[in-house]
Parts: sequence; structure tokens; C-alpha cells
Amino acid sequence: MGYKTIIEDDIDVLVVGAGLGGTGAAFEARYWGKNKKIVIAEKANIDRSGAVAQGLYAINCYMGTRFGENNPEDHVRYARMDLMGMVREDLAFDMARHVDSAVHQFEEWGLPIMKDPKKGNYLREGRWQIMIHGESYKPIVAEAAKKSADKVFNRICVTHLLMDDSKDNRIAGAVGFNVRTGNYHVFKSKTVICGAGGASNIFKPRSVGEGAGRVWYAPWSSGSAYGLMIEAGAKMTQMENRIVLARFKDGYGPVGAYFLHLKTYTQNGIGEEYESKWFPALTEMVGKEYLDTEGQHLSHKPIPTCLRNHAFINEVNAGRGPIHMVTMEAFQDPHLEEIGWHNFLGMTVGQAVLWAATDVDPKYENPELTTSEPYVMGSHATGCGAWCSGPEDVSPDEYFWGYNRMTTVAGLFGAGDAVGGTPHAFSSGSFTEGRLAAKAACKYIDDGKAEGINVSEKQIADLKKKIYKPMETYTVYRNEIVAGSVNPNYINPRQGLDRLQKMMDEYCGGFGVNYMTNEKLLQIGLKKMKVFGEDLESIAAEDIHELLRAWELKHRYLTSESVFQHTLFRKETRWPGYYYRGDAMKLDDENWHVLTVSQRDRNTGEYTMEKAPLYHLVDDE
Ligand code: AMP
Repeated sequence: MGYKTIIEDDIDVLVVGAGLGGTGAAFEARYWGKNKKIVIAEKANIDRSGAVAQGLYAINCYMGTRFGENNPEDHVRYARMDLMGMVREDLAFDMARHVDSAVHQFEEWGLPIMKDPKKGNYLREGRWQIMIHGESYKPIVAEAAKKSADKVFNRICVTHLLMDDSKDNRIAGAVGFNVRTGNYHVFKSKTVICGAGGASNIFKPRSVGEGAGRVWYAPWSSGSAYGLMIEAGAKMTQMENRIVLARFKDGYGPVGAYFLHLKTYTQNGIGEEYESKWFPALTEMVGKEYLDTEGQHLSHKPIPTCLRNHAFINEVNAGRGPIHMVTMEAFQDPHLEEIGWHNFLGMTVGQAVLWAATDVDPKYENPELTTSEPYVMGSHATGCGAWCSGPEDVSPDEYFWGYNRMTTVAGLFGAGDAVGGTPHAFSSGSFTEGRLAAKAACKYIDDGKAEGINVSEKQIADLKKKIYKPMETYTVYRNEIVAGSVNPNYINPRQGLDRLQKMMDEYCGGFGVNYMTNEKLLQIGLKKMKVFGEDLESIAAEDIHELLRAWELKHRYLTSESVFQHTLFRKETRWPGYYYRGDAMKLDDENWHVLTVSQRDRNTGEYTMEKAPLYHLVDDE
């Protein structure tokens, strides 16, 4: 299409996607690789990119070990409980033992963290959460990454990873295009740390029409972490573990600060407490490990996030909605009222604006909550992502293959949403994971594992052709539009996204079907996905912006296919409230106390599924 090819050669560490994970990777790579060439390729601008772009009001993962608050083992127990047992405890422990030092650095770099005036420790929202003035969290952290990297390429949509042509299953860099100039960018690198994002907008969102684009996780999180790695043949884990969030209705304002700090609570539409009502029946579904024999929650253990959702969903289905957050009591205290508003002004401005626009004052009216559409990601209360090696000192053999956070593709590492089985990392934990991955990537290079990489001219040329094909398709067929944007020869990215979201919603357990699916529905869905995959070959892009949307859609498609495969494979309902397998409504520890692992063959596109052992490395209490 006449776009220039720009080659960046001899890179040691290529960071793909510089959210919190990627920035941590670039920062740490400089420490272990003083003379190494470190390059960042970022879809937006590193100063405002990733899930933390718009700011955060809390850091949700901080141990406080120096203040005697928690130790890493406590956090592993918490994450394990929250995820109904399903975590990679080696990775979770490794993150937790290093995360505090990352937070201390953020403070040194200028992030204002609120302090408890009496004790001198950070002001806590909850056991794991500390409060920050975090509107500028991302620019502050980005500065450290920018100073560490040799070059930062902003506005590059990375579409594919490069594979070594001389040795099978070894990474060799990445390619993409500049979303402003359209130029083709080739990054030849010894290692790649994938810090791209999880997936919003793969399930049909509740916000449509004039509200379209308003979602809980960042709308620009296009599942690229998964799309890139899946296509490269990396094994994935826990991709069925999508998350549904209880959120303030329509603005998706987070609830953590309200529940934990403001001590607000929920009620059904007629002002009743409803959660405990649903717990006895839940004991039937999930066993007594999470609730006591009377179905009351175990006072010494938090209720798993999904089970809280379950009560919410059932109460609404019983006709006693909407669920309200009782803010009217807390908001009578002017200090708490201020915090309630600040919480949104610092991270979800849209919620505050929406309340103002729709005349909702939480001091005089209890706002509505809702359960969101599902998201596929790996850093909030869910653990989708790549099957990665753990650290050498804690990981059992099945979890360890030489380099911390390395996927099953040699030289390809993950951080943040990219790494599977590590929920509850949040922003600080993702940054920490990036650091751990970068240290290991430097060692991989120093051990000589990246010697003799060869990227053929053919691979580079083939990918270029592939990337711009949607523009070619548009140019060839644009005169055959029959009405509006309808063309018998192609679909455009918006049409494709609508189709994907509808399939995910109806067949894979979205909000439209009350998060319910079963084997039959999943099989029909997979059949439709196959046909959709064929149609995606003839997607058309009118301009560079649509080209970006086309490739984001392709990454969302690959992510979604993996979610379908994993959901089909795990024949149980492990997380009621996230999704239900109607044909296997109970948690089945006998057969499914395992992690699920998939691999998509990079040549044929065929999936292989396997069960991986779930090791509990941290004792109960
Ligand atoms: P959120 O604001 O919902 O994104 O959550 C922020 C933090 O608070 C996360 O660590 C959540 O797991 C936690 N959290 C949210 N709601 C609750 C709750 N009702 N009980 C305990 N922890 C919660």
C-alpha cells in the first residue's frame, strides 16, 4: 500500500505494550541489562496507556510487610480463596514477596500515597488496598520506563510476534504499524515481554447506543496480550475464568473504596439484606470450604467475589431488584462524602459525571448497582493468561522451565494481564511481574539462549502483506457497497465486533443469558466462530484507524475462541456468579481441582486442551 518499512534491529528486550506490566519490565531490564538495547512499542502514548491511563484511587495489592501488616503467604491464601482454589501459587507468591518494593518506588517517584496520621503507615482502604491520589499514577510510572528504554515507539499497534526461522518455537521480535503514519514497523529482538492488555468488549456490553464505549476495563484493552501469544502458539491457562463485576450502574464506578473504606453495603429493591439468603443453596453448589454448614460465610475468610455476584444475580432474577448501594448513611459524614466523590474523580470521572447528569446525589439517594458483562483479563479478581514458568526457588517441576514468567515459547515473557493464574496483582502487582519477567529475560540472553536468531525476509514481507490486506480489500471492493456500509464482499470492523459480542453473549455466558451456558451452546458457538473466522479474512479497513480496529478485532477473536474452548473443557461450575455451566452446575473438586491449559497450533489453528496439576504450596493458615 506504499507504506514505508522501518526496521529496528538488534534489540535485546522488546516490551510490547507499556501499561503497568510493560513499564515495570522496561525499568527492571535496564538494571539487569546495563548495556542491553531496550525498546518499547506502545499502541497509545506511554504517558497515558493501559488500564491505569485515567488514574486510580487505590493500589489494591500492597502487603505492608514493613509495618507488620501482611506477609506474602497471606496474600496467596486470599487470592486462592477468592478464585475458588484456582491460582498458580508459585507466581502469586513471587509477585507478593516483591510488590511492596514497587509501591515504595512509586512513592519515591512522586506518587502521593495517603498516610495514616497516627500510625505513619499507608492509609488502608481494606486489608490489601491502600489509598492514593492517583490521577497521575501512569505518567509518573511511565517516566521511569522512558528513562530506562533506549527508544520508545508510541502509536504502534503490534499485530504479530516474529518467530525465529532457524529454531522452532523461539521468539524473534514483533511487527505492527504506526496508527498515525501507517508505516510498517519491524522490531527484531532477542526477547519479547508481552505487556499488552486483557479483553474488554468481547462480550456484548450493557452500554449500547449513545452509551457505547463505556465499559469497566479500558475500552482499548483489545485482548492483544492473548491474541499475540495465542497466535504464536503459547500455551494459555484459565481462559474460562472471565470476570463479572458488581459496579455502579452505567458508569461502571468501582465499588471497592465504598465497601471497604466507606463501609457502605448493599440492599435489594425493597431495602432488605439479601446476600445471606442465597448462601445455603450455594453451599449445595460449591461445598463447605467457602461457606459454613448453615450457608453462612466463614467469618475468618472473605467471600469469594464470584459468590457475592451469585447472590446479586439471583436476587435480581427473583424480581427484587435493583440492588442498591447504601450510601445515604456514610455520605452524611462530610469527610466520607468527599472521599466518595474523590474516589471517582481520581479514576472514573464518568461515574461522577453520570450522577451529576442524571440527578443522583448519593447523599440523598442510594445509587443502583449492576453486574457487568464479562471481561477476560488476568490482574483483577481473575487469572486468565499465558501458562508461564515460575521462579526457580518455589515452583514445582511442572511449573518451571528455566526462566521466570517465560511462556512456553522460548524468549517470550509475560507481565500483567498476559500471565495466567495470577489474579489480584492489580497495578502494583503487574508492574512487579514486569520487573520479574525482565530480570529473567536478561538472564535468558546472558545464558546464550537467543544466539543465532534468524528472521527471513519472507516472514517480514508476508506479515506486511497480511497487515495491510484489510485496506487492500476495501480499495478493491468499495464500489460494490449496496446500501449504507453493507458490502457483499467484506465486513467492516464495527460489524465484526457486533457479531463477536452477540456470539459471546448468547453462547458463552454473557449477561444477556444470565451468564449461563452449556456444552451444546458452546459447540454451536464454536461452529459460528469458525465461520466468523473465515469472514474475518475478508475484513475491510477504510483508513488506518479502521485498520487498527480490524487488528484489535482479530486479537479479540483469538481471545474469544480460547475462552470458548476453555469453557467447553472445564465441565463444572467453578465460579458461580462469573458463569454457569447449566449441564454441570456444581463445583466438582474430584475431577476439576486442576488448572486448564490450552494450545492453539500455530500452523493449523487446532486446539489441544489439557489439565495441569494445581499445587497448593502455601498451607491453610
Ligand atoms: P473494585 O473497586 O471493585 O475494583 O475493588 C477494589 C478492591 O476491593 C479489590 O481488591 C476487590 O477485590 C476489593 N473488594 C471490592 N468489593 C469488595 C467487598 N465487598 N468485600 C471485600 N473486598 C472487596
